[in-house]
Amino acid sequence: MCGIAGVFEAEGASGLVASILFAIQHRGQESCGAAARDAAGRIVAHKGMGLVKQVLDEEVQARLSGTTAIGHVRYPTAGCSDEVNAQPHAIELAEGPVMAIASNGDLINYGELRARLEREGVVFKSDNDAELIGRLIALYHVRDGLTIEQAIARVQGELKGAFSTVLMYKDRLYAFRDPHGFRPFVMGHLGHDGEGEPLSEGTVFASECCGFGIIGARRLREVKPGEILRLEKGKPVVSVSHTPLQPRHCVFELIYFSRPDSTIFGESVYQTRERIGACMAAKDGALADGDDLVVMPVPDSSNFIALGYAKAKKAEFGMGLLRNHYVGRTFIKPTQASRDEGVKQKFNPLPDFFPGRRVVLIDDSIVRGTSLRKLVRMVRAAGAKEIHVRIGSPKVIGPCFYGIDTPTREELIANRMSEREICEYIGADSLRWLEVGDFEGLLPGRRQAFCTACFDLDYIYPPEGFAAKTNTPVVRGAAV
Ligand code: AMP
Repeated sequence: MCGIAGVFEAEGASGLVASILFAIQHRGQESCGAAARDAAGRIVAHKGMGLVKQVLDEEVQARLSGTTAIGHVRYPTAGCSDEVNAQPHAIELAEGPVMAIASNGDLINYGELRARLEREGVVFKSDNDAELIGRLIALYHVRDGLTIEQAIARVQGELKGAFSTVLMYKDRLYAFRDPHGFRPFVMGHLGHDGEGEPLSEGTVFASECCGFGIIGARRLREVKPGEILRLEKGKPVVSVSHTPLQPRHCVFELIYFSRPDSTIFGESVYQTRERIGACMAAKDGALADGDDLVVMPVPDSSNFIALGYAKAKKAEFGMGLLRNHYVGRTFIKPTQASRDEGVKQKFNPLPDFFPGRRVVLIDDSIVRGTSLRKLVRMVRAAGAKEIHVRIGSPKVIGPCFYGIDTPTREELIANRMSEREICEYIGADSLRWLEVGDFEGLLPGRRQAFCTACFDLDYIYPPEGFAAKTNTPVVRGAAV
């Protein structure tokens, strides 16, 4: 998972981009970068391994002068952990590097397209999807003589998978998104009041709108699935084209990845999570109420799911586990031993909170089962009488090919053990998941607009050799 940002024609653009990236740092902590166009029209980029505050400090922001900039935070899904894979990528055209690109999402046909380009002599500097998108556009523009917009549209039609992309080209900025709208992508403005399309000046883009408040921008609307937007000085933002396919918004963004204060895919993230909690509580009628019952999230990802559960069940909400925010992501550590150690460092029980209590412990997902096995033991050792684990997503049974880092199918605990075995493995008194069917009620009238492939194997583009259960047909130009 990654995050992107873009600012068109505003003072201190690289600083604004850095602020947006800081607000969406949860989307990627491995590396980050920004590229700005200076007064002479040159693109200057800076990227590095580490967090936004470290890599894009004030000195770097001063060096990235100019009024238009783009940026990126990276969480590796495809391609190795390396500075060369950090974004944005500057792409040379015949006249020199006048294009820079940053994108969020993974492509299914990356290998095939890269091999084709390499046969034509294109040289790659990274293993990154964004570089491939940029080089394809450059090839069609320079070699085939397409206008930049025709080139973007052709590439948009050829890529299979997820891409929310910002592209600086000469003195313009383009924003475009894959036709299924897998990943979130919003447009805002630093001054516009929300009526009609804004003037290009002061327009901003981000993966999530939680990045806008911090720079005083208003959220205007999503970049639509399949849309290409052009920003040019002195002109309104123009929707150059819009060729959507059946929407496939990532439901896991709502459950786990996005920040609760964002609105994505037309849904408030925290409200959706509260609804998930309420849905889980409704199934738990048999769990007797009582003063000894406490509903507790695994912080912070499950806070709102637990809140929704507690409100619906009229039970006490408690924060019995403290999370150390300086421990990085335990999920992507390479070995089981390092993941186990990471979970131990990350959470600590409150003293005197648990003795004699029945705990409903809420987490957003079980992937390998690492976190909950440790946490249930920790809570039991701290004195809890019973521990009932509730999971705010269905069982994860398939990898994500569109930008979320998931282990192989064999590593997913739900593919290896029965429900009873998982409950025993994590040491809980009871265990229950959300069910795929619950999405109908949670996203009324919009269920079909969401990708739930990691929960039901309904992949719109299963990679070759992957035996998916079903495959929803792709309908070009279907109503959205
Ligand atoms: P596990 O411990 O392997 O069962 O992983 C589940 C935990 O990791 C949950 O608490 C989630 O909050 C978190 N998680 C789930 N999916 C991801 C992901 N793709 N990247 C990072 N963390 C994740």
